[in-house]
Amino acid sequence: MDIEILSSSEAEKLREIIDSSQNVAICCHKSPDGDAMGSSLALTDLLTSKGKKATVVVPDAFPDFLRWLPGTERVVRHDKHPERAEAIVMAADTLFCLDFNKADRVAALQGAVESTSAKRVMIDHHLNAVLDTDLAISRPEMSSTCELLFRALCQIGEFESISKKCASAIYCGMMTDTGGFTYNSNDPSIFVIISMLLTKGIDKDRIYRNVFNNYSSWAMRMRGYILCHRMNVVDDLHASFFSISRKIMTDFHFIKGDAEGLVNEPLRIKGMKVSISLREDDREDNSVWVSIRSTDTFACDKMAVRFFNGGGHHNASGGHLNCSLEEAEQVAIEAIKYYADELR
Ligand code: 5GP
Ligand code: MN
Repeated sequence: MDIEILSSSEAEKLREIIDSSQNVAICCHKSPDGDAMGSSLALTDLLTSKGKKATVVVPDAFPDFLRWLPGTERVVRHDKHPERAEAIVMAADTLFCLDFNKADRVAALQGAVESTSAKRVMIDHHLNAVLDTDLAISRPEMSSTCELLFRALCQIGEFESISKKCASAIYCGMMTDTGGFTYNSNDPSIFVIISMLLTKGIDKDRIYRNVFNNYSSWAMRMRGYILCHRMNVVDDLHASFFSISRKIMTDFHFIKGDAEGLVNEPLRIKGMKVSISLREDDREDNSVWVSIRSTDTFACDKMAVRFFNGGGHHNASGGHLNCSLEEAEQVAIEAIKYYADELR
């Protein structure tokens, strides 16, 4: 099965840029997820093995369940070390932009990303890319940036250079962006790629446990609490929403990542078509983070754009509201009703 994905000119250009690079910065989107961190750290591992300097710079914290990924201890957080993070981006000869395609997705790193004289390479799988780069590898049909990165690396002859650590990071991103290969993952070549990664000696069962079975007892109790006390189900519209207040987060000793994936839980209800999560910012008032997940044909990105100032993929989207949590709940109700005909 063919896993080639680049045009010959893209492959040539990627080869050329990697070969001529010495000092590489790699950045990904704010609130980095498994795909963002996995692709960034996989590429860092590969470039480092070739004797290049490569540093991952992230806008803010990544979840605790990704701490095991190879090289996380060397990741530079912009929110903690803004000057150092910006200096790395500005001094690089090459900047990889992974798992995002709009400059505002890197939050306060945007200035450095846009003004560095480094050669910029984007590798991403989101729709509607608008990032200004020297090489844009944009494939919205890919299930993850990690999958795309792997295909691209293989195509330029780097399969042999991929280490077990690099392969583990790639697998992590493919796994997290498909919910453990439970959605957006019917392309047979995904499983060819998994086979290829397994030949590198990765322990996929352990990677699954590291990522998905990593809750603290507090996080587990919070999830139970939300589902029991905060989940609203609109039965006839096959829709549901829940909200997580700052008080709940404090009561359950919330740390980053504790609510990750929780939005998927209501989709386990028979016939459920859409699930909306509303989470109050842990510091700022009138700031609510929105996550939406849907099944099959219901396009939650349309809902995210129309009601939640966001966007995303067909079955996984997000957004943000500047209002109270109570007001956000009203917006969720309104959004569900708006699509009543489709959902019923
Ligand atoms: P999550 O619910 O995991 O935060 O986000 C799911 C997906 O929605 C992300 O992969 C991303 O593509 C998209 N997304 C999340 N927040 C935003 C946003 O504010 N704007 C846009 N355009 N997409 C978002
Ligand atoms: Mn992704």
